[in-house]
Amino acid sequence: MDYLLTEEQKMIKDLARKIAVEKVLPARAELDEKGEFPWELMRILAEADLCGLYIEDKYGGFGGGALEFCLATEEISRICGGVGVTYAASALGSYPIVLFGTEEQKKKYLPDIASGKKLGAFGLTEANAGSDAAGIETTAKKDGDHYILNGTKQWITNGGEAETYVVIAMTDRKKGARGASAFIVEKGTPGFTFGKKENKMGIRCSATRELVFQDCKIPKENLLGKEGMGFIVAMKTLDCTRPGIGAQAVGIAQGALDEAVKYSRERVQFGQTISSIQAVQHMLADMATQVEAGRALLVTARLKNRGESEEEDGRKQCILVSFAMSFIGITSCIQMQSSHH
Ligand SMILES: Cc1cc2nc3c(=O)[nH]c(=O)nc-3n(C[C@H](O)[C@H](O)[C@H](O)COP(=O)(O)OP(=O)(O)OC[C@H]3O[C@@H](n4cnc5c(N)ncnc54)[C@H](O)[C@@H]3O)c2cc1C
Repeated sequence: MDYLLTEEQKMIKDLARKIAVEKVLPARAELDEKGEFPWELMRILAEADLCGLYIEDKYGGFGGGALEFCLATEEISRICGGVGVTYAASALGSYPIVLFGTEEQKKKYLPDIASGKKLGAFGLTEANAGSDAAGIETTAKKDGDHYILNGTKQWITNGGEAETYVVIAMTDRKKGARGASAFIVEKGTPGFTFGKKENKMGIRCSATRELVFQDCKIPKENLLGKEGMGFIVAMKTLDCTRPGIGAQAVGIAQGALDEAVKYSRERVQFGQTISSIQAVQHMLADMATQVEAGRALLVTARLKNRGESEEEDGRKQCILVSFAMSFIGITSCIQMQSSHH
């Protein structure tokens, strides 16, 4: 389906696809096996100007929105989910600055993200705060012109590799979700170190790591928005970036379908390729239908592009879509695996 993409959006999709096939495909197996961060591939994506699709052109970006970033994420993830999530998480880490940054913060941080010189990361999750994001325990205490951060974030994509982190911490724990604030923390700040790196079963070239803050002193200028707005910063950021996780799932599902179709045309049983057996054709058709349905749901990313971010319905739709597409992606992977075994 065409999805009424503009010429520019089609070019973004084609460019991402070309890089994925020519550069990511030959490297993916080794990167995954070694759990090696895909720096060289990120450099290639940056050189192709794909790192700042959602960043305003005055800060060096393309000036698009969630849809452009989703189109590229899908094509990269179609070939490698690990590279796809590495790419998408940099957007997750910098979208809070796009949405809530002051002019100074945008000028300071966005050009390096847009050019791909630096990667972003987003630190919300903690050992005791996953779905229940308001349960975070990391604290940020005001101390004159600074805030002092203490606590540990876990499972942070691009952790250790990114230079620019947006971290959610409690400035007033008594207020619950209304007591959270968002901060920009630069790699190399004293008191900010990296803990355990996860040895994952999949998407292994993506770095998933702990962020550790021990009396980490950051200037008050690094507060994003106002004190107490941290939960809003996090939720509005996720509204824009959750479709990116959906795009990753659709890409992985499409990649699984591509492999399944290819295999069914090679594998010969009973004197014919299994692709000519009607029961197999039904399975492939079901997969293709689900993948296309998932892709159609990415229309929410287009809603974000049109600035309908205030719509509560849109927000619910985004959440639903990312869950639905993650499910579709996982189902297709399982189907593909079982067709290989
Ligand atoms: C590879 C990877 C990368 C990640 N990258 C980042 C990152 O960059 N930054 C970041 O901040 N976090 C990151 N995360 C964390 C991710 O956002 C959390 O895993 C997610 O928020 C869910 O939290 P949890 O895993 O603790 O699950 P839990 O919250 O413990 O949930 C466990 C199960 O219970 C269900 N559940 C929980 N609450 C409810 C409810 N109210 N109603 C119904 N069901 C419920 C969930 O759906 C789930 O099935 C990453 C995680 C992974 C695995």
